[in-house]
Amino acid sequence: MTWYDGKRVLVTGGAGFIGQHLVRELLERGAEVAVLDDMSTGRPGNLAPHPRLTVEEGCVTRLPDPGPVDMIFNLACRASPRHYQADPVGTWRASVYGVEQVALLAEKHGARLVHTSTSEVYGDPEVSPQREDYVGHVNPVGPRSCYDEGKRAAETLLYDLHRTTGLPVRIARIFNTYGPGMAADDGRVVSNFVVQALKGVPLTIYGDGSQTRSFCHVRDMVAGLLALGGTEGIDGQIINIGNPGEFTIGELAEKVAALCNVPLVVSPAPLPADDPRQRRPDITKAQSLLGWAPKVPLDEGLADTMAHFRDVLALA
Ligand code: UDP
Repeated sequence: MTWYDGKRVLVTGGAGFIGQHLVRELLERGAEVAVLDDMSTGRPGNLAPHPRLTVEEGCVTRLPDPGPVDMIFNLACRASPRHYQADPVGTWRASVYGVEQVALLAEKHGARLVHTSTSEVYGDPEVSPQREDYVGHVNPVGPRSCYDEGKRAAETLLYDLHRTTGLPVRIARIFNTYGPGMAADDGRVVSNFVVQALKGVPLTIYGDGSQTRSFCHVRDMVAGLLALGGTEGIDGQIINIGNPGEFTIGELAEKVAALCNVPLVVSPAPLPADDPRQRRPDITKAQSLLGWAPKVPLDEGLADTMAHFRDVLALA
């Protein structure tokens, strides 16, 4: 028996990459789940039919009321630079107007709210690892700003509502997440490299490959989000959820090529504007407040991501 057993949970963005795994775990824990997704990057096919699952197509900026809910997980936002930059105004609206709608719905139903923010609130960080009290180094008008500043504005709104009205919100700052269920056209580095290696084409390293990221397997991410939602006494907390293992993009390319048993051939491309030089979470807070830490090593996680993409490419 967990906190979720018998609870009614709304998951916005529930048909997306992380959402599909979260929904499956919630159903396994006995929750009744309502999904709202605009299917911009989510896919209805990501969710297997289940007697305790309903799926509605719609946008958080015009959030329909699914009726009484005990909890909301707000995952609704494009998260890959390729996708959020394709519709920067829509991204900003989902991040800001959408989050206001979600907060109003949580207030209306007295629901606990877990909001997914991002390591992008730290921008191109000048400190490493990044702790939650680091205020960030963010360009307000660059190509990443719709996402970075949208997510920062959402945190501002939710934190003010928590301070002024006691909104029971918990905020996850999610670091780079990968794993089975990613779309082949996601555009982020792990899916790009694995798909390229499996197809036997050169890997697209942007810049000199010395920039770093810390990759968290989706299974660990979902365990962290469930702990954030199911722990008592942590309303108003903002917590990094990520894997502190830090790798350069060049190292990631080498790992993926070795795993797929192909020689590493690189197709160099320019480093995108404002691409963060480094990124690594300090997870002390998650460990102490949630008793959570990631368990899946990168090599193991890349292997099951590769198996996923082998299936996807075989079906294509
Ligand atoms: N990147 C790359 N090749 C790709 C896709 C991304 O070298 O095909 C780099 C990108 O420039 C960044 C890092 O990999 O430095 C992570 O990019 P991603 O889009 O996965 O996520 P981000 O952390 O930048 O939001």
